[in-house]
Amino acid sequence: MTDTIQTIHFEPRSTNFNRLKGRLEHQVGKAIADFNMIEEGDTVMVCLSGGKDSYTLLDVLLTLRKRAPIDFKIVAMNLDQKQPGFPADVLPNYLKTVGVPFHIETQDTYSIVKEKIPEGKTTCSLCSRLRRGIIYKVAGELGANKIALGHHRDDMVETLFLNIFFGGKLKAMPPKLVTDKGDHVVIRPLAYCAEKDIARYARGMEFPIIPCNLCGSQENLQRQNIKEMLTNWEREYPGRTQTIFTAMQNVKPSHLLDGGLFDFKSLKLGDKVDEGDIAFDD
Ligand code: SF4
Repeated sequence: MTDTIQTIHFEPRSTNFNRLKGRLEHQVGKAIADFNMIEEGDTVMVCLSGGKDSYTLLDVLLTLRKRAPIDFKIVAMNLDQKQPGFPADVLPNYLKTVGVPFHIETQDTYSIVKEKIPEGKTTCSLCSRLRRGIIYKVAGELGANKIALGHHRDDMVETLFLNIFFGGKLKAMPPKLVTDKGDHVVIRPLAYCAEKDIARYARGMEFPIIPCNLCGSQENLQRQNIKEMLTNWEREYPGRTQTIFTAMQNVKPSHLLDGGLFDFKSLKLGDKVDEGDIAFDD
């Protein structure tokens, strides 16, 4: 994912950096507790792409595990998709330094995608489908019951708008889900973390970031447009992304139009409706 956030470098251990670190740890701990993401005896496979989000996820989870009241295992995993120029030694070297068990899975999905998708067409959807299947398979082989992904608050808000604008659905990206086969639980512990905080943390920690454009494909154009829309809103109305995110945790089915979520047909005189007769309370 392209980092469009303005560069602000924090010296590790400066007061500002420690405050940022504390905030991220608090937000990850809260998401884990709010959604019961990690339980006693879990083995959590943390998927690392070499980008800022997954490095931050692994780093914060390792810190939180040290003081967690429960016992759980962490194993890091990277899928080397054989993209041209992928620096295969960067992640293993980092993970050895950190001292976390890890597995590098090498699968040439790059060639498959190039072969199947005509030149000029977006390759991301096939690529991510293949990646997802491999990730689930590797989790099974490693004995991991939880799969942790590095999506954050801004990814979730972008997905909400993608689904509204192009899917006609009020749906975002869940903090926790069970895979279709029912074998694993996927968790997103960075759900409450803002992308700009993660970007600052990753810079301060000087993680060895691997560029994300090695495959030569552009990130989904619609997602880029929505990112830009949110960035412009944020500039004009600071805090808007967080307000939208808060709204995603504060859904009022009685004031939407989905009869499957709220029984409008049976509504009768005398019934009390959440939020009353006010549609917009400013
Ligand atoms: S940007 Fe490249 S590596 Fe990422 S999902 Fe798209 S095709 Fe796959």
